[in-house]
Amino acid sequence: GVPSDLTPAPASQALFDRASAVLPGGVNSPVRAFRAVGGTPRFTASASGPWLTDADGVRRVDLIGSWGPMILGHGHPAVREAVVAAAEKGFSFGTPSEGEVLLAEELVARVEPLEKVRLVSSGTEATMSAIRLARGFTGRPVVVKFAGCYHGHVDALLASAGSGLATFALPDTPGVTPESAAETLVLPFNDVPALEQAFAVHGDRIACVITEAAAGNMGVVPPAPGWTAALLRETRRAGALLISDEVMTGFRLSRAGWFGLEGRQRVDLGDGAGEQALAPDLFTFGKVMGGGFPVAAFGGRADVMAHLAPAGPVYQAGTLSGNPVASAAGLATLQHCTDEVYARVDAVAATIRDAASAALAAEGVPHTLGVAGSMFSVFFTDVDVVDYDTARTQDAGAFAAFFHAMLDAGVHLPPSCYESWFCSASHDDDAVNVVLEALPVAARAAAAA
Ligand code: PMP
Repeated sequence: GVPSDLTPAPASQALFDRASAVLPGGVNSPVRAFRAVGGTPRFTASASGPWLTDADGVRRVDLIGSWGPMILGHGHPAVREAVVAAAEKGFSFGTPSEGEVLLAEELVARVEPLEKVRLVSSGTEATMSAIRLARGFTGRPVVVKFAGCYHGHVDALLASAGSGLATFALPDTPGVTPESAAETLVLPFNDVPALEQAFAVHGDRIACVITEAAAGNMGVVPPAPGWTAALLRETRRAGALLISDEVMTGFRLSRAGWFGLEGRQRVDLGDGAGEQALAPDLFTFGKVMGGGFPVAAFGGRADVMAHLAPAGPVYQAGTLSGNPVASAAGLATLQHCTDEVYARVDAVAATIRDAASAALAAEGVPHTLGVAGSMFSVFFTDVDVVDYDTARTQDAGAFAAFFHAMLDAGVHLPPSCYESWFCSASHDDDAVNVVLEALPVAARAAAAA
């Protein structure tokens, strides 16, 4: 059966009961519910640095990090100051203001192929707008995505069933019409022959390929060597665009996200252009660049972005886009994402993932680590995970037992085995030690499940 809480959480339970009366499922975003692991979602009362304090007054180490944004930890003083200073000048103007220029300049300075950006308010808006722009720019209908990659709740991108090569996907959720998913082609991640075959058959109808730069939404699955180059080669050859979704990885894995780790290597794609960087045509960003506020972006090649209104005919707009308070939070966050911050996040992630693996190995629990820079997840399977099908070989029951033992021992993991664990630079030795002490207990619980 589904495990339940090891210790009661009466205040969270009372809030969850009230929430369930007015919010579907008691939450405003599905992953927050404990559907996959059982028990009561803990309602956060406050957060500071690496700590979450719940409504019952229990303090835990946070390894969710708001699902990515909180790379500096909660309530970073410089970000708070920037937010207060911006709020003192007004909340939203509906005219341009300097803060949005500063944030855009910071993004463009960090990621070389990013020539122009448009600020939006969520990762979903960024990917939705990027594929519209790609379709508008190329005049073609088809979007290629990969099974297990999540790009927000865009109709055309919710299709994820591993329906195999060249099969046009059916909608995965009621409310998405077959028509709006009909031009979405779902392929397996990291499968070069499947990609080549899809382009051979449909190449002249493909507007774009959208991919998670390193996948983080089927658990963490990095691109295999040669995969990113194959994406570029096939899109270039067909006259399609490559959209690298760095909503999760952007400004987290390095100053320039996944691009900073892989993209700068120079590769000959065999297109006569010689050695070149692995530069996608468009990027999407979110999470870290908003520092916990609703800010995201899409951008890339200036000639492509020139098709966006008001410069060009592809329409996209937003009342709160470039919001001054949110932009200030994002800018302050990025300004404090220094080399030392990335080094600390890398070190914390390495310590925790190695300890998790050692603890599970000691109890004989089958597992594999998925690692992309400082993002990682523990797959509860001994299968080599390279795509969605292999990710789904996991023992969800073992994870649920592990999750609840961690929660009980003072560590809040993402409540799903298909998610990255998120570390921050604020995870000091005290916080890391709580995790290190919890892991062996949780590994025993997983072994017993
Ligand atoms: N793309 C990726 C890679 C994501 O991880 C997410 C969110 N987890 C999104 C897009 C959607 O972003 P948002 O939730 O801000 O709409």
